[in-house]
Amino acid sequence: MSQGNFLPKRWYNLMADLPTLPPPPLHPLTHQPMSPEDMSALFPMECIRQEASTERYIPIPEEVREIYELWRPTPLRRARRLEKLLDTPAKIYYKYEGASPVGSHKPNTAVAQAYYNKAEGVTQLTTETGAGQWGSALAMAGAFMDIAVKVYMVSASYHLKPGRRIMMQSFGATCTPSPSDETAAGRAILAQDPDSPGSLGIAISEAVELALADPETKYCLGSVLNHVLIHQSVIGQEALHQMAEAGAYPDVVIGCVGGGSNFSGIAFPFLGEQLRGGKEIRFVAVEPDACPKITKGAYTYDYGDTSGLTPIMKMHTLGHTFVPPSIHAGGLRYHGMAPLVSLCEELGLIDAISYPQLSCFEAAMQFIKTEGIIPAPETSHAIRAVIDEALDAKEQGEERVILFNFSGHGFLDLTSYQAYLNGELHNYAYPQQAVNAALKLLPKIEE
Ligand SMILES: *Cc1c(COP(=O)(O)O)cnc(C)c1O
Repeated sequence: MSQGNFLPKRWYNLMADLPTLPPPPLHPLTHQPMSPEDMSALFPMECIRQEASTERYIPIPEEVREIYELWRPTPLRRARRLEKLLDTPAKIYYKYEGASPVGSHKPNTAVAQAYYNKAEGVTQLTTETGAGQWGSALAMAGAFMDIAVKVYMVSASYHLKPGRRIMMQSFGATCTPSPSDETAAGRAILAQDPDSPGSLGIAISEAVELALADPETKYCLGSVLNHVLIHQSVIGQEALHQMAEAGAYPDVVIGCVGGGSNFSGIAFPFLGEQLRGGKEIRFVAVEPDACPKITKGAYTYDYGDTSGLTPIMKMHTLGHTFVPPSIHAGGLRYHGMAPLVSLCEELGLIDAISYPQLSCFEAAMQFIKTEGIIPAPETSHAIRAVIDEALDAKEQGEERVILFNFSGHGFLDLTSYQAYLNGELHNYAYPQQAVNAALKLLPKIEE
């Protein structure tokens, strides 16, 4: 529908408009606030600067913008055929981030991070990936910026989803199943459980360990951190523009949450307008029942990885040692939530809900049969919430305007759909015992 030609020249930073700022990240060993020097072992200085920035706008480097132009602005579409199926007076709009070369929103930050690392003389990037969306985005960014990329991929996905691994390798990246025997963190997990399916937390430990050991290697994170959320603001800024062109403004903005980056990408530019006196709207973050950090986790200080190597952040968490069940939305299997999204929930600015995976696949089928695009299993969580919202609008007889982020397509997740169509998928009960055990192992921080 509305492609438009507006591509922002600057990123938006919600920190400028929030009534309070999130507490600073702490050093994993000393528990003191991290200094920029502490962080520089892992990240380039410009990303560290953005991490703490309270400037409202940050210029997008021209070289990054030129690469964005390969797929941005992404289309804003109205899902009229889905509206018709649901027989709802609601208007459903979606921002199609599946239009990027690797099929998700993740290159919006991957390209920026690779650019800043290259500019500061870094020769290799390491990272983790779950389902493979982030790994393939960083692999592509590394190819564009001519910088080596080494990806630790959660073992369960490495074997279940060879398509993503082949994509990373085609971009020239190295991909290793995690836990691996290449790092102390990986070897410790394998000693306990030689068949460990892995988790994002474990893979992060491996990638971070490698970056700490080599001064020319730095680490990239695909979500959670403030600078990542800043880069994703291109989504919402374009959407603001495109909704205005369509003569509409959302009543509700919806996104699925793994670490919180695609949700904040679409939500924060609208939330910024609201905080500056604009229209009050509802923001809904959608998570899986199997990994419900906002709705069931604690808001407290915790590590970003399993082994306790990363900075400690105040966030919603299920505990860094919690290994979520192997649901098909691999990108949503992370124990923590972005500190900024967590703070927004604490301040009552956003809502969160969780859904079991089967109901999300059901919603995806309705979307596929009406709008034609197979969503990533992660995205299907947002679609579930959108359909429920549209049905509620019907019950209330309201012409509600719903905007959601279509975070990625599922063309490389077809084995998940096969399992669903074969009736092999089931729902997981909330893993209460595992969460209770993990929450006992939080770092002891005096506040
Ligand atoms: C990674 C991913 C997510 C979850 O990550 P966020 O940082 O919460 O956005 C959601 N959808 C898709 C398609 C992804 O690749």
